[in-house]
Amino acid sequence: MPMESLFATFFPGDCRICSDPLLNISRLPVCTNCIDNIQTFINTQCAVCGELLVARNFRGEEQGTQLCGLCQQVRPRYIRAVSHGPYEGVLRDLVHLLKYQKVNSAAEVLGGKLAQAIESLADEVGPKPIAVPVPLHISKLRQRGFNQSERIASHAARALRTTFPIELVSGALQRRRATTSQTGLTRHQRRLNVRGSFRVDPLLRRVIAGRNVILIDDVFTTGTTAEECTRVLLRAGAAKVWVATVARVSKLEAVASFQGSQSLREEAASFALGNAFGGES
Ligand SMILES: [Zn+2]
Ligand SMILES: [Zn+2]
Repeated sequence: MPMESLFATFFPGDCRICSDPLLNISRLPVCTNCIDNIQTFINTQCAVCGELLVARNFRGEEQGTQLCGLCQQVRPRYIRAVSHGPYEGVLRDLVHLLKYQKVNSAAEVLGGKLAQAIESLADEVGPKPIAVPVPLHISKLRQRGFNQSERIASHAARALRTTFPIELVSGALQRRRATTSQTGLTRHQRRLNVRGSFRVDPLLRRVIAGRNVILIDDVFTTGTTAEECTRVLLRAGAAKVWVATVARVSKLEAVASFQGSQSLREEAASFALGNAFGGES
């Protein structure tokens, strides 16, 4: 063990999110205050894709069966997409700690949050579904050293062991090519861009066949990846597909929270018109 990590083990240091001194020795360098501040969705969401239907601070609408404009136009192939909360604040910071700073212990907290989202599907999915993480392309996997969705999924599976057991089949989907940045593409262009990027491992087709599948990813951004993976899973014989992510980007939220700054407002407006943040996979 190098001196530096030995030092960190005995002297907790500062929270990697808010910089407050850490009081307890823990594998996760994030304070309990930050963890307690992880937000869930409190606003009305689309019953299929989970997009927010009303901006923040306009609560009181009934959570029901309403669909967003996009789902009304073209219904996604998956039954429903759920996530723990908006991709912002502590939840976003934890995802970044795991993905970009390789703080492995963040996966356990994120897995716990994902488990809650998955559990909300228990009634409609039925017992013993298969869980399939969205794969990384081999070049990305080599660069990062791990697939964050797989890590988070395995912690979620562990958390759900007694309440809603899921069978994690990590290699079921394969990424055939690295997707180029989705930034600046329209919804239609994004679909074409991602088309053919995934396939079901031929050796695992029989595992998928006839089963209900929960597709797992860290962040739901535009839904293009979820939709393409669903298409491929259904073609390989999956019965039905649901989607569960730790966090979700909301276009409406982007517009609402950027009000006040001209440049950010423009960015939010162009995002709402169909441009994705992209690039983060
Ligand atoms: Zn903190
Ligand atoms: Zn929708």
